[in-house]
Amino acid sequence: MEYNLELLKEEGKKAGFTHVNELKADTIVLMKEVRDMCAANTCGQYGAKWSCPPGCGSLEECQQKVRHYKTGLIVQTVGELEDSMDYETMMDTEKAHKEHFMSFLNALKEKYPDMLPLGAGCCTVCKTCSYPDSPCRYPEKAMCSMEAYGMLVNQVCKDNQVAYNYGPNTIAYTSCYLLF
Ligand code: SF4
Repeated sequence: MEYNLELLKEEGKKAGFTHVNELKADTIVLMKEVRDMCAANTCGQYGAKWSCPPGCGSLEECQQKVRHYKTGLIVQTVGELEDSMDYETMMDTEKAHKEHFMSFLNALKEKYPDMLPLGAGCCTVCKTCSYPDSPCRYPEKAMCSMEAYGMLVNQVCKDNQVAYNYGPNTIAYTSCYLLF
């Protein structure tokens, strides 16, 4: 499989990401503790979307999907805040990260049609998710997050030589693509 890391990093930066690095699939550990945090439902999405637990599959089912991959990319968008209460920049950075993610996803899909993209936050394709009454309306567009799969983002970053936190008055959104 064609894989030119330096070229992919360049393309990722062109898509708008602040940081792009290789994601070695053998560093990925799916943790029950992360899924337990989802079940605590502080975000209100647990049991509300196909993209989130339990709708996105059991930890074992997620593990089976991740096992197909050897390598991928970890991507970040970092925003500079005016102060720790600068919610506007936080939201703008999240929106920008999602745009970068979708734009790079479309480019990568041509080379890696069987890739597994894992975003930041829950799926926002539909205003109201069809979960659990009827199947996902747009399975080709629906997006799970790294956390929904049980990844502790901090650990995945650290084990792939990417910072998780860029210091006071910054906000970083992290996602990944498992390519092949
Ligand atoms: S695409 Fe729509 S139906 Fe499917 S998970 Fe996302 S919000 Fe739910």
